[in-house]
Amino acid sequence: MLIPHLRMYVYGKCKSCKHSLRFKTEAPTRIELAMRNGEYIGCTCPSCSLVQQQHVNSFRATYSKIPQLLAGIIFGIGTLGGLYFGFFVLENVRNHYLAYGACSLLLIPGLVYTILHEDERRRVNAFNQMQV
Ligand SMILES: [Zn+2]
Repeated sequence: MLIPHLRMYVYGKCKSCKHSLRFKTEAPTRIELAMRNGEYIGCTCPSCSLVQQQHVNSFRATYSKIPQLLAGIIFGIGTLGGLYFGFFVLENVRNHYLAYGACSLLLIPGLVYTILHEDERRRVNAFNQMQV
């Protein structure tokens, strides 16, 4: 777990109007969620205002946008920065090994992106697979 305390949204459905119920939690799995909040979680529907008890198994985790956004920004800035640095070195230093070295920095944002994405995928799967 790379970002252990990042909260994620889990989604349920209103029993009356099927509007989606959003619930923010730090729990990585349903079991953990049940331990923290009880097996039935009280929610109020934002659409029809029905107060209801939802079983933890009826909640599903989805990808949060924050790690994806973060990864995208790192990817964008890192790639541009790496390219710029690579060209700068090539133009001014005329040392090809150094330029290759600078260009290999391009691999880092891609790697960070992959790690963040994998971590998020693992987290979502871990939550959705385990039932209480
Ligand atoms: Zn409703």
